[in-house]
Amino acid sequence: MKLVIQRHNGHTGKIQFRIIDNVIHAETDQDTSADEVKQYIKANKNWFAKKLTTQINQTDSKSNLRCDSQIAQIFSGIKTLICGELIDVMSYQDKKPELIDDILYINQQKFKDKYTRNAEIQKFLLRLAKDFLPQEISSIGTKMSLCPCKITIKALHSDQWIVCTNPKQREICLDYRVVQLPSKLRKFLMIHSFAHFYQAVHNYAFWQVVQQYMGNYTDCLNQLSDFSFLKM
Ligand SMILES: [Zn+2]
Repeated sequence: MKLVIQRHNGHTGKIQFRIIDNVIHAETDQDTSADEVKQYIKANKNWFAKKLTTQINQTDSKSNLRCDSQIAQIFSGIKTLICGELIDVMSYQDKKPELIDDILYINQQKFKDKYTRNAEIQKFLLRLAKDFLPQEISSIGTKMSLCPCKITIKALHSDQWIVCTNPKQREICLDYRVVQLPSKLRKFLMIHSFAHFYQAVHNYAFWQVVQQYMGNYTDCLNQLSDFSFLKM
């Protein structure tokens, strides 16, 4: 179990947990020690074990594929998808959207209307993607012994998850909604981006590089189309 602790400047004494890609992210203040965070996890170990197991099963199974009613809920902004997991969206009083224990909370004024609710969710996803995806990119880069000169996370056109670059650029440019995809698809897109550090075009040599790091990449190509609704 990997634990990442992030600290903010307040003195609330609260610890908030997010579990993303089987890593526990704890957000707390300056006064709470790492030992206190670990003790909390130890005291609630059954809950954490259940969350981690559910995530592993969801990543490996076809449960990532969404039925029409779930897609409708995502479009209406009462649910959203984060790292392949379907998350409830609820209203609360604070101004900034926040993910707490698998529920995304949105300010109650913004929550009332479908359009402002969806705009808040997209803003949150962009922030989450900018926080979370660069770490994942660098860990895949380390495995491939490659280091990007530049990482860009932004909104791309509806038919694009990534920008295909060339060996001179050594750049990784991803759509922020990549953060909504399951782990395997995120990795596939990152490996694809890194493979352009060797080959500018999608030739045989390019796919050989992809295959070296993701044997069943053709499955990923098929599965990605199931998530194209996220880019509409
Ligand atoms: Zn490409």
